[in-house]
Amino acid sequence: MKDVYILAIESSCDETSMAIVKNGKDVVSLTIATQMDTHALYGGVVPEIASRMHTEAITLVLEETLKKANMKMEDMDAIAVTCKPGLTGSLIVGIECAKTLALIYNKPLIGVNHLIGHIYANNIDDKMEFPMLALIVSGGHTELVIMEDDYKFKRLGETLDDAIGEAYDKVARVIGLKYPGGPNVEKLALEGNDTYNLPKPVMDDTYNFSYSGLKSAIINLVHNAEQRGEEVRRTDLAKSFQVVAIDELVRKVEKAFRETGIKRLVVAGGVSANKYLKEEMQKLCSKYEAKLLIPKLLYCTDNAAMIGAAAYPLYLKKEFSDYSLNASSEGDLL
Ligand code: AMP
Ligand code: MG
Repeated sequence: MKDVYILAIESSCDETSMAIVKNGKDVVSLTIATQMDTHALYGGVVPEIASRMHTEAITLVLEETLKKANMKMEDMDAIAVTCKPGLTGSLIVGIECAKTLALIYNKPLIGVNHLIGHIYANNIDDKMEFPMLALIVSGGHTELVIMEDDYKFKRLGETLDDAIGEAYDKVARVIGLKYPGGPNVEKLALEGNDTYNLPKPVMDDTYNFSYSGLKSAIINLVHNAEQRGEEVRRTDLAKSFQVVAIDELVRKVEKAFRETGIKRLVVAGGVSANKYLKEEMQKLCSKYEAKLLIPKLLYCTDNAAMIGAAAYPLYLKKEFSDYSLNASSEGDLL
């Protein structure tokens, strides 16, 4: 079969990224222009600034991505783009670029769900096999699903309030760490011990997640300490939070291993960059003799290579988008 080259575009949040991906797994070139330093000045992503910065960067990112691959637009077989979920203004910049390229170069257009992109990041250096469990842990989502086949999802549980990444970011803020919070909490936790007695987010015996109680407990703890003039042991608090937050993920995946008998797990989304999460999932998978896939660090956080990987099964099935493709802030997997 002829090799398939997909030009993939990702602009759902604060990274403008493009990649050329061969046959859904070989990353021929990848460019990521991050806006992180700018948003860090404001303590979080400012949507209006993000859209403007995507507009500024996107053509340069395209030029660079083609140049690094030593390829031309004519060499591409399709144009893939993240269309949901994400910041609407940010998504629109990538979508408009993709549509224009598809029209001018007469290539099929493929709209890709960003969360599915995070899952397919696992196909880049490894191969996903079905059925498998997929745990999505990102800034906006915490979900546990069964994947029976490419693009066949069955949800076991999801977050009822805050996503785990959001909890990381809010805890970071209250203990005075800079945006992006997740990696900074992880770094601080390395120096701490699990000494704070925090509420476990155990609500019921479902597969659903809830992190707002844990987050609020930490915010209250810090504010109360401040009022009493007491010192907060930030390293210990970061460690204690991380243990409770991630142990909850482990508990739910263990339940799924026991109840479904499935022996494969992929972890996807920004929080999968976390080392403690990786270690705990590895221990669990060893106990259940299950195979664990977590993307390498570069593909854990937002990048266009994962969008190219997720677009490939759609290309094979000829599930193309038309020129009315639009952005959506919501993006259910099912
Ligand atoms: P995403 O929404 O998939 O783009 O992922 C972004 C989220 O992942 C943010 O909430 C980050 O704080 C979080 N994140 C990134 N790296 C880490 C890490 N090493 N540990 C915990 N959370 C992280
Ligand atoms: Mg993401």
